[in-house]
Amino acid sequence: MRRFITADEIRKASRESDGNERAFIFAEKDDVVTDEARDLARTLGVVISSEISRRPFICANFKMNGGPGFLDKYTAELASCMAQLYPDYRAQADVVIAPPAPLVAVAYGLSAKKTVYSVAGQNSYIKESGAFTGETSPYLLKECGADYVITGHSERRKLFGETDAVVAQKLKTAIDAGLVPIMCLGENLEERKTGKTFAVISQMLTALYAIPLEYAKKVILAYEPVWAIGTGMNASSDQIAEVCAFIRKNIMEKLGVDFSNAIRILYGGSVNETNALEIAVIKGIDGALVGGASLKAVNFAKIISAFKPDRRSGN
Ligand code: PEP
Repeated sequence: MRRFITADEIRKASRESDGNERAFIFAEKDDVVTDEARDLARTLGVVISSEISRRPFICANFKMNGGPGFLDKYTAELASCMAQLYPDYRAQADVVIAPPAPLVAVAYGLSAKKTVYSVAGQNSYIKESGAFTGETSPYLLKECGADYVITGHSERRKLFGETDAVVAQKLKTAIDAGLVPIMCLGENLEERKTGKTFAVISQMLTALYAIPLEYAKKVILAYEPVWAIGTGMNASSDQIAEVCAFIRKNIMEKLGVDFSNAIRILYGGSVNETNALEIAVIKGIDGALVGGASLKAVNFAKIISAFKPDRRSGN
């Protein structure tokens, strides 16, 4: 539904800002800002973001699943489902598959050099090359056909001890290698229950602020509440919208309103073919990072189709 931003809302935002930070109202491109509200915002120094269009981005994260045979079948099935459901999707959206590292080059080849999807790595190391047994260079990922890499996934943070400092280094090296990082951030259940969600998100965003601005402009964010990953328990639309607005506000304060409006924010956490439509219309959300449900090509095709631009007018 179209929202009207009124002078009362501007006054409220101004009152609620404690004087230390600039008051901010997140406005989507379809929201109507009344003339009175616009004038008052100028007088009181309240920032109203004017949304710029951000291309939908849908990424499948296979995690440690699938082999060459699976991928072969998957690609053919995805191409055929997309031809039926959403034939011109490549013109409208970024569709990406992140297979296990040894399959990056295979995935690239099978996509007939990106006609069905682009390819992402699931992780990359902080260095270009050297004696780092078992690690994957972002330069190698790029050479094998990847355009993107997932960085700071909660499984990497939790199981492999990745800190925000490491995530920042990974972002930097990945971008140097020519990859676009998809940086994941999100709170765990304990943090949500104890009211620490925003503090955790702010802390994780320090990785974005630790890299030069020209680098940060390349990053895509994925809000992934840890308690919703692989659990079948996805966050409510209100919870997702609230954190997404918080992320944009935090970024606006650090890097400016244009940056905050331009950065793409995905949601991840038990997205599937049934709930994708609901997620696709959440204000400020530009796509999805999909784990389990992406392993069935037909389901991933339905999720991609949920992000058709006509279904998302207002985002
Ligand atoms: C993920 O791996 O990033 C993810 C969101 O997984 P799932 O969709 O299975 O929750």
